[in-house]
Amino acid sequence: MDLLIKEGTLVDSTRSYQANICIDQGKIHSIFEGSKQIQADKVINAKDLLIFPGVIDSHVHFQLQDLGKIISSDTFASGTHAAAFGGVTTVIDFADQTRGESPYKGFLDRKKNADKQVAIDYSLHVSLTDTDFLDEIPLLIKEGVTSFKFFTSYSWRNLSLDDFDLIKLFQEMQKNRCLLMGHCENDILVLKGRQSLVKRGKTDPIYHAYSRPHIVEEEAIQRVILFAKKTGIKLHIAHITTKEGGELLANAKLQGLKVTGETCPHYLLLNEGAYNGPKGYLNIMSPPLRHTKDQQGLLDYIKDKIIDQIVTDHCEFSRESKGSGNLPFEKIVNGIPGIETSLPLMHDLLINKLNLSYSQLVNLMSTQPAKLFGLYPKKGSLEIGADADLIIFDPTLKRLISPEILHYNIDWNPFEGIKVVGWPIVTILRGKILVENGEFIGPSNYGQFQKRNLVGK
Ligand SMILES: [Zn+2]
Repeated sequence: MDLLIKEGTLVDSTRSYQANICIDQGKIHSIFEGSKQIQADKVINAKDLLIFPGVIDSHVHFQLQDLGKIISSDTFASGTHAAAFGGVTTVIDFADQTRGESPYKGFLDRKKNADKQVAIDYSLHVSLTDTDFLDEIPLLIKEGVTSFKFFTSYSWRNLSLDDFDLIKLFQEMQKNRCLLMGHCENDILVLKGRQSLVKRGKTDPIYHAYSRPHIVEEEAIQRVILFAKKTGIKLHIAHITTKEGGELLANAKLQGLKVTGETCPHYLLLNEGAYNGPKGYLNIMSPPLRHTKDQQGLLDYIKDKIIDQIVTDHCEFSRESKGSGNLPFEKIVNGIPGIETSLPLMHDLLINKLNLSYSQLVNLMSTQPAKLFGLYPKKGSLEIGADADLIIFDPTLKRLISPEILHYNIDWNPFEGIKVVGWPIVTILRGKILVENGEFIGPSNYGQFQKRNLVGK
C-alpha cells in the first residue's frame, strides 16, 4: 500500500464517519473502521482531523488576457500551485474562442500551454463567441470537453452573443447533450449605464457597482432560463450575485427545469462597501459586489440547496495592472484572486458561523462540481476506486488572511484581515502528497488534463 491515513474523520457528500483510508496506485483502495495491520510506505495519523475529497473549482481563469493585452498575474503553474495549498485538486478553466477563429484550435492551444505547467488536475470549458463553428462541438466532445460557455454581455470585447445566436447555440447544445454555462448580464444596460455615469464624471470604483444594478443580472438570467425552457437544455448560471438571481434559480428548479447555479465566496463575504477607500479599485470584478440583503439571500439559497456549488471565478491582477488607483472604473481590468482561500473561508462561514453540515460543504465544493461537469465519481467522492484526491483539514487551525500567508503572485488580497478557524494542511492528488505542513513537497507538474463525460439530458 502506498499510503495509509489513520483515524481521521472521513466526510463525503452524505455523511461523516471515523475510519482509516488506504491509497494505492493513485486510487482509493479501501476504507475500514477499527484497527487492522496494514503495511504502507507512508502512514499519516489524522486523529482529530477531517478528510475531504479535494476541492473542485469549476470556474477559474489563469493567465487570462484581458482588454487585448494584460495577462493576469498567475500562470497555470503558479495558479495551480496556490490552489493546491488551498486544498483544491481539480480546476476547470476556460478556452475562450476568439471571434471568427476556430474554438477547437483555441482549445488545443490553451491545453498545450496548460499541460506543461499544471500542479493539479484540470479541464477546460470552451467559451463560444460566435455561432460559425458549431460543427466543431463533436470534435471538442471527443477531447473530453462537455461544457460550453456563453456571454450575454461584453459586446465591447466581442464576447457576447445576441438572442438569435443564443437560441441557435442552445439548440445545438440540446443536440449534443452538453451543458451550457452562462455569464448573465444585460449588455445594453451595462453599456449605456456605464456611458451615462462616465459622461457625468462619476468614475470612482463604487460606480462600477452602480453601473450594473440588480436588474442587469436579473433580466439576463430570466431570459436565458426562458431559452433553456424552450430548448430543454441543461443550463448552468455562473456567479449569481443577487437575491433576485437566486430566486429565479429557485423558481426554475420548482418548474422542473434542468437549471443549476453557483456563487462565489466574495459575493457572500464582501459587499459594495469594498469599493470605497483607497483599495476599492482592486475589488472590481463582474458582476459586482452587492448588498447585505443579497448576501443573506444567497446564503439562504445555499442552505436550501438551491445554489448547487461554490466556485471562485479566480482571476488575479497586480495593483499596477489594475491601474494603481488612477483609472476610471470602466478602464480597470476585472477580477480578484480566490482559489487558495475559498475552502477555509467557506468552512468558517458555512460551518463555524451558520452551522451547515460538513457534508453540505463537501457537496458544494467537490461532489456537486464533479457531478455537474462530468467528473463524478472519479473525482468528488471517497468511493473505493475513485482518484485519491484528498485533503486533510484541521478544523481548529486559526489563520488571519493576509497576502503574506498565501502563495499568489500578487501583494494584496480582497479578504485581508478576515480571521478564520480551520485550514487545509495536506493536499493529495491521485495518491501523491503535494502539500504537507505548509510546504509544497510534490512534483510541480503532476496535474493532468481530465476528459469529462457528457452530462446533458
Ligand atoms: Zn469567470
